[in-house]
Amino acid sequence: MNVLVVGGAGYIGSHCVRQLQAAGHRPVVLDNLVFGHRAAVAPDIPFYDGDLGDPDTVGQILIEEKIDLVMHFAAFAYVGESVTDPLKYYFNNVVATLRLLETMLSEGVTKFVFSSTCATFGIPERMPITEDLPQAPINPYGQTKLDIENALKALAHAHGLSFAAFRYFNAAGAAEDATIGEAHDPESHLIPLAIDAATGRRPPLKVFGQDYPTPDGTCLRDYVHVDDLSRAHIAVFDKLDEPGTGLFYNLGTGTPTSVLEVIEAVEKVSGLKVPYEMAERRAGDPPALYADSAKAKSELGWEIKYQTIEPIVATAWAWHQAHPEGFQE
Ligand code: UDP
Repeated sequence: MNVLVVGGAGYIGSHCVRQLQAAGHRPVVLDNLVFGHRAAVAPDIPFYDGDLGDPDTVGQILIEEKIDLVMHFAAFAYVGESVTDPLKYYFNNVVATLRLLETMLSEGVTKFVFSSTCATFGIPERMPITEDLPQAPINPYGQTKLDIENALKALAHAHGLSFAAFRYFNAAGAAEDATIGEAHDPESHLIPLAIDAATGRRPPLKVFGQDYPTPDGTCLRDYVHVDDLSRAHIAVFDKLDEPGTGLFYNLGTGTPTSVLEVIEAVEKVSGLKVPYEMAERRAGDPPALYADSAKAKSELGWEIKYQTIEPIVATAWAWHQAHPEGFQE
């Protein structure tokens, strides 16, 4: 299939582009390079530098590239910033996404795969998190993703859009050949910060909170390899043939891992010490978040290659070793 990957130069998008190629599809990338990196997309892949909310650019790509399906990864995703600058999040994550959907429908492209998040659940009443739990986001970032989930349902009903929304847990790791990986600026994620603390590129890691009701007092998260995530996106294609289909899947390994266990894994993989200090809790961090992905496994045949934290960290370590400064462009 011809697949437009919006945000294909970003962290998860660029890995998905690689998996699409490996699966025999033809990816085309649209990215405005605000957070994406041109070098994360191979030169042989059609690349458009533009905005998802620009109907002229998007419409032209849909027609010229004969796009069958659109995948959308181009969201702002800093939870803290979404609290202090909510309009930025509503304009990009909601308004621009609605424009993208409007353009798709007007050009007759009716298949859509959407990056959603476990942040749509807020502080869930039960763990692990199944798809049917109530969604009550506790920050604008999670709310903007839920707003689009709801818009997608309405568009499926009204216009026959077929979609799958994947709620990611903690995307982590890097491509096996270490050519692409995680490179955020600013970086706020635990694994890259722990790696950089170990190598001395950044100051000692701050562990946010040690008095959570968890076995070692630090937060539990579900780290899922970015290539595993990507494969689920492709496995759903066959299910989108029927107009009006709406599918939701939680994607995680189901293995809860604490902050201290991540530090341990980085130390084991790197052979270095991770200097760290205990710090205050970070506002808005739920004590534990992990997925029940039985639905993705049974319906999509989704197989998780990286079930535990150490092999995930090993791929992140190899990427950071090969590219200590991240991407050059
Ligand atoms: N964390 C931490 N120190 C840091 C960054 C993150 O202790 O410098 C913790 C954070 O509180 C959370 C976990 O690591 O419990 C994962 O955080 P991250 O920002 O990577 O992802 P999130 O779960 O917020 O999506």
